[in-house]
Amino acid sequence: MFEKGRNFRMNDLEDQRCREWLEVHKDHCGNTVDEKTGLTYEGSMGPKYPNIRYCFVPTGIGNAIVIECSCGRSVDITDLANY
Ligand SMILES: [Zn+2]
Repeated sequence: MFEKGRNFRMNDLEDQRCREWLEVHKDHCGNTVDEKTGLTYEGSMGPKYPNIRYCFVPTGIGNAIVIECSCGRSVDITDLANY
């Protein structure tokens, strides 16, 4: 059966880096983090919605992974050991 679509995954280290960055970043951002989902939301300015983007950038030797917050800050969480 022909399989359509693409899957992008984080390994355990990348997931850990992601969670740690979000935990620290929420104190330096106007956003808050939902404890249950780990998603960040706008503060009291409007309706709640996720505002974190997970960017998977394919390269010839693996995927680079960058997390971007709607406030403009971002972090590269790529595990270079995968390369
Ligand atoms: Zn932010």
